[in-house]
Amino acid sequence: MLSVFCSPSRYTQGKNATASLGKEITGLGLRGPALILAGRSAIRLLSETWNRTFSEAGMAHAVYPFGGECSLAEIERVKKAARQHQAQVIVGAGGGKVLDTARAAAADLDLPVVNCPTVASSDAPCSALSVIYTDEGVFQEYRFYRKNPDLVLVDTQVIVQSPPRLLVAGMGDALATWFEAKTCVEGHVKNMRGGASTRSALTLAELCYQTLLESGAAALRAVQTQVVTPALERLVEANTLLSGLGFESSGLAAAHAIHNGLTAAPATHDYFHGEKVAYGLLVQLVLEGQPRSVVEQVLRFATEVGLPITLAEIGLVELPKELLQQVAIRATAKGETIHNEPFEVHADMVADAIRAADASGRAWKKHNGEARSK
Ligand SMILES: [Zn+2]
Repeated sequence: MLSVFCSPSRYTQGKNATASLGKEITGLGLRGPALILAGRSAIRLLSETWNRTFSEAGMAHAVYPFGGECSLAEIERVKKAARQHQAQVIVGAGGGKVLDTARAAAADLDLPVVNCPTVASSDAPCSALSVIYTDEGVFQEYRFYRKNPDLVLVDTQVIVQSPPRLLVAGMGDALATWFEAKTCVEGHVKNMRGGASTRSALTLAELCYQTLLESGAAALRAVQTQVVTPALERLVEANTLLSGLGFESSGLAAAHAIHNGLTAAPATHDYFHGEKVAYGLLVQLVLEGQPRSVVEQVLRFATEVGLPITLAEIGLVELPKELLQQVAIRATAKGETIHNEPFEVHADMVADAIRAADASGRAWKKHNGEARSK
């Protein structure tokens, strides 16, 4: 098996990075006009900066407001707008769904794509794949593209204006990266791009985990105060770049499959991807029989930043047996990344591990809640 590492062609991050967007795009040799598919808050915060940066770069641009759902119909509308404007590059500016739609449209039209995430809520922006859900919010499939984005530009001044919960959700997604990567490498399985992992990808995944432990809490405070600090910069890089490269070039395992399973329970739909992935990681640690020290480090971090560690915290105050079984069956469906675990995984094992993770999360809360009140 060949080793494969993939990444965006260029990654740019910093306070007011949007002011350099035009220059960043032309610097890559890309030509306009650009079609910017943008969410509502991106338009509100960035329209004037776009006018300035694109006129400085001598590139025509048009803004197309996002319709709200990454659906096939919306992708077609964006493609139509791109043709109308004779766009030579598509820029997605907004949350995950905006970027996914921009990427899908660009892939269909064979155009370069630029991702400008306005939240650091997942590790999707750097990858060459997106997650497709049904209109009801149930995980449907991974959609793979030929190449990673030509440019990912993250404006941290915009990130600190997003809701803190979204940054925390991104930490949940990033929290699983190192554990899933390690599992894939130890099992000699393929990464998300069909090759073996590299030492580079694994090292980046580990750095991602260390960065969360070191800078997660401080970064959360920065977003709560709406200020850009070095800790915030490091954390945004971990959530977006390190986690993105780590998961795509090393692979996913149980945590993300458990997330996909959990989407079968409608009550979890009010919770973000990264929040469910964080819980999925706890389940993975149970399944793998990880030592107490490892589990407790994860629980401590999750509690510190406010990630869910019990079923109740992802909307499942009750989880009837039949629904638990459905979740477990979905998580172990054929082709799921849970089968990257180095042992055979069955639905009944997953159902038990989901409940065991909940029990340990509740015990942790009880113990630490008591410790605090003493
Ligand atoms: Zn994820």
